[in-house]
Amino acid sequence: MPTKTIIEPFRIKSVEPIRRTTAEERLQLIEEAGYNLFAVPADAILVDLLTDSGTGAMSTAQWAALMRGDESYAGSPSFTRFRESVQAIFGFRHVIPTHQGRAAERILFSVMCKRGDVVPNNTHFDTTRANCEFVGAEAVDLPVPEAAEPARVLPFKGNMDVGRLERLIERTGRERVPLVMLTVTNNSGGGQPVSMENIRAVKAVCQRYEIPLYLDACRYAENAYFIKMREPGYADRSPREIAQEMFSHADGCTMSAKKDGLANIGGFLCTNDDSLARQEENLLILTEGFPTYGGLAGRDLEAIAVGLNEALEEDYLNYRIASTAYLGDHIARSGVPIVQPPGGHAIYIDARSFLPHVPPEQFPGVALAVELYVAGGIRSCEIGTLMLGKHAKMDLVRLAIPRRTYTQSHIDYVVEIILEVLARRQQIGGLELAYEAPFLRHFTARFRPLVARTV
Ligand SMILES: *Cc1c(COP(=O)(O)O)cnc(C)c1O
Repeated sequence: MPTKTIIEPFRIKSVEPIRRTTAEERLQLIEEAGYNLFAVPADAILVDLLTDSGTGAMSTAQWAALMRGDESYAGSPSFTRFRESVQAIFGFRHVIPTHQGRAAERILFSVMCKRGDVVPNNTHFDTTRANCEFVGAEAVDLPVPEAAEPARVLPFKGNMDVGRLERLIERTGRERVPLVMLTVTNNSGGGQPVSMENIRAVKAVCQRYEIPLYLDACRYAENAYFIKMREPGYADRSPREIAQEMFSHADGCTMSAKKDGLANIGGFLCTNDDSLARQEENLLILTEGFPTYGGLAGRDLEAIAVGLNEALEEDYLNYRIASTAYLGDHIARSGVPIVQPPGGHAIYIDARSFLPHVPPEQFPGVALAVELYVAGGIRSCEIGTLMLGKHAKMDLVRLAIPRRTYTQSHIDYVVEIILEVLARRQQIGGLELAYEAPFLRHFTARFRPLVARTV
């Protein structure tokens, strides 16, 4: 009998103190940071939900594996173990290690794309889009229409619109579409999963036009678990079997091991194409390193080899998905507008409806993120007018949950702070830009508050 209470499927062996600050201190720190949370020192953060990338806790098995790391320049047995672990799940013929996901993207697009090409994706992640555009190709997002309705509860809002994909290929011409990508789960689209049915349908279109399909596989294990929970016919299959089937429909993938690799650094690029693999390895040697380490230490390869398997454990995935939903359901039940249903790795608050009196040009997402920091030392990330400029359709505040890092009481504390801020949201004002960089401005922007905040 499954119990009602889902416990963290681990106990804690090593603890990392977090530092308490007062609201007065935080108000001063955020002023000094120009109201940009990227500029606040991490040791002045109480609960850090800026990202789930590379911020997870490793297991005892991973720490033990680190000591097996063989740091030979060429032919390290750590690489053999890494490759075997990747191939057992992902199934691709060639496995090319990289220092993180974006390096895999850069190599993939450099080899496969040229100026004028078009790359469709359900939704490009920001580094994926940037690397695609850097080689002169156009990155086109084709999410299903429901993805734009935050309040709508549907099982697979990460799906690609297959009809639009076909029309895009017809209009562009097959020779200008070198690959199609599917991001599982759809990070920029609210961490929403892609169904197996959608992967199969996209693959069928790709096959008809002889275009390779690549998965942006960062959260492949979370996606596999959503398929198990939500898609008819998969309830009795293990997450590993489901992941294997997902990859069986693809010709290759890019991966950031900082997500479902449960490691602090690393990534890889896979392909079944021998000739592409050779070109990719040559580029790898140019900037990342020899193909048996690719910018990683042997010990990193060992940690990833173990982490990829731990990410597929059912107890872990059940806890992971339930704990993210726990935060989302608790705040939503009390009236906080969130992107529904809760995603795998993060909860996204709809800041435009949270702060209806703050217009988009006064950065409601930034205003809410700043307030969560001052009120409770919580760091989140704006995904809206600051990050996306004119292209922002929504102003979201993302609360990303690091893997195996915080306990339920930390999350209860986050819920309490969010509800406290909700109760006095009328007093929260917008901000104006004081400085912005010409690109990727969200990392370094500085602001002035339009309403003075006192403690
Ligand atoms: C994080 C991420 C990447 C890039 O990986 P890095 O390791 O940060 O370079 C690419 N795609 C998606 C969907 C991601 O979440």
